Amino acid sequence: MVARIARAAQAAGRDPGDVTLVAVSKQQPWEAIQPVLDAGQRVFGENRVQEAMARWEGRADGLTLHLIGPLQTNKAKEAVGFFDVIESVDREKLARVLAEETQRQGRAPRLYIQVNTGEEPQKAGIAPGEADGFIAACRGAYGLKVEGLMCIPPADEPPGPHFALLRKVAERNGLAKLSMGMSGDFETAIRFGATSVRVGSAVFGARG
Ligand SMILES: *Cc1c(COP(=O)(O)O)cnc(C)c1O
Repeated sequence: MVARIARAAQAAGRDPGDVTLVAVSKQQPWEAIQPVLDAGQRVFGENRVQEAMARWEGRADGLTLHLIGPLQTNKAKEAVGFFDVIESVDREKLARVLAEETQRQGRAPRLYIQVNTGEEPQKAGIAPGEADGFIAACRGAYGLKVEGLMCIPPADEPPGPHFALLRKVAERNGLAKLSMGMSGDFETAIRFGATSVRVGSAVFGARG
């Protein structure tokens, strides 16, 4: 996987070191994860707070753990305490609670704002048309440091235009980091400027 990412970066005229693999370990048995750890992978993604803590608590030393799934405000306290990166910031109530918890715990996970580029009703993320205002509110009213943007394109559409849109929103808001691309489309995402790709099944095999 690391080699495929490097090849895709080179093909796009980019430095392979500028693309981070977030290995998505959700729903994977430990037997699938251990060899990936042994091979040197240190950045992992999880989509549920409780499941992630059960899997990684006591084993997280030296790792960077990303929350990539939707976050309920009643789990924000645990998420701030546990994750290094939260990629799914998508509404003001959550931004407010994250700001409070960051203050209270004196611990500040890096934050990405999730954009619902396909405006799918069932999907988390701020609508593209509301993204600029929301980013400004996160930085202003809530005093949060925003690192980048994340998106999950609609499953039934070519992802390229969604990646391009995410990049455009990032550029006009002065954000350098783009979390985009999964097992089926990470090479396309790298071509469109992804700085991290979230790859699960192509790393670990099919989920249980
Ligand atoms: C599960 C998941 C992934 C990984 O999906 P694969 O198709 O297995 O690579 C990436 N991003 C998010 C947000 C996910 O929930």
